[in-house]
Amino acid sequence: RAKSEGRGRIKVFDAGMRQTVRERVEIELALRQAVQRNQLWLSYQPIVDPLTGRAGGAEALIRWTHPERGPISPVEFIPVAEETGLIDQIGTFVLEESLRQMALWRDEGLLPERFYMSVNASARQLRDHTLRGQIADGLRVYRLGPERLTMEITESILVGDSTQVVDVLNSLRGLGVGLSVDDFGTGYSSLSYLSRFPVTTVKVDRAFVTGLGVDPGDEAIVRAIVAMSTALHLNVIAEGVETTAQRDALIALDVSRCQGWLWGKAVAHDEFAEKHLRVLQDESAWTPPLQQTA
Ligand code: C2E
Ligand code: MG
Ligand code: MG
Ligand code: MG
Repeated sequence: RAKSEGRGRIKVFDAGMRQTVRERVEIELALRQAVQRNQLWLSYQPIVDPLTGRAGGAEALIRWTHPERGPISPVEFIPVAEETGLIDQIGTFVLEESLRQMALWRDEGLLPERFYMSVNASARQLRDHTLRGQIADGLRVYRLGPERLTMEITESILVGDSTQVVDVLNSLRGLGVGLSVDDFGTGYSSLSYLSRFPVTTVKVDRAFVTGLGVDPGDEAIVRAIVAMSTALHLNVIAEGVETTAQRDALIALDVSRCQGWLWGKAVAHDEFAEKHLRVLQDESAWTPPLQQTA
């Protein structure tokens, strides 16, 4: 942009802009170190059945705890990681770590039968033809079936020149891995993407969930997304559910999977196991008292 503005280019780098560029460079340097020093870790947020609140899966969400600055949001550093290519290492870490964690839970007897992990994929990973092999290797090493893993992709990745992306997505579906469209409704939302790409799940963006029970427009949008997804045999997950009113509206709309602070924020693996997995284990161990028969 600076170039196309010719002589005006100096003006483009005003004080505010310089600050931003500098901050980005700082984040990049710090992120590079963070990757080397293992300061990145995964948190897990339950994906639940809204009727019972039981976790059927989890979304892996990356966290960065900077030794001096404290937690830095992925909203800040993931774009920097994408621009600099650091996302390759980070993406590999997230995949490996989330599979390793599921295997650990399985070995501890904590992993429910159909529990799965949903992992965010970056645009760069989805143009990488080695992704399929990386996932296949990970599943084999940790002895996990492909249905244990879902990759989340954003709509923007599906837009534009996408033959490479389509190839990669098809190869992942060929493995049997699930594919979710994340933040659905915020991007292009061309309905044709859903039938053209081999996706299995639609994640309704929090923007539409927030207004449920208050804004009839949002309810109409969610209703339409559910109808369309059902017709295409896709699963629907509502994101960002914070209130019981939103939950009840989603149940009324036949949404069978939800995610949101109402059931739990993203937490470290031990807290996740304690809050969301041990309860399931206790429930399955519980046997109903014998009925008195006359
Ligand atoms: P996302 O994939 O759409 O993840 C959902 C975001 O909403 C998460 O923010 C989550 O903590 C937040 N959230 C969940 N429930 C609620 C709720 O009830 N209310 C509100 N207000 N927020 C809720 P987070 O963890 O800060 O992640 C932000 C974004 O960063 C993610 O959006 C995703 O695009 C990206 N991201 C996170 N981890 C990774 C990763 O491992 N790889 C890649 N490529 N991107 C990641
Ligand atoms: Mg996501
Ligand atoms: Mg999302
Ligand atoms: Mg998002």
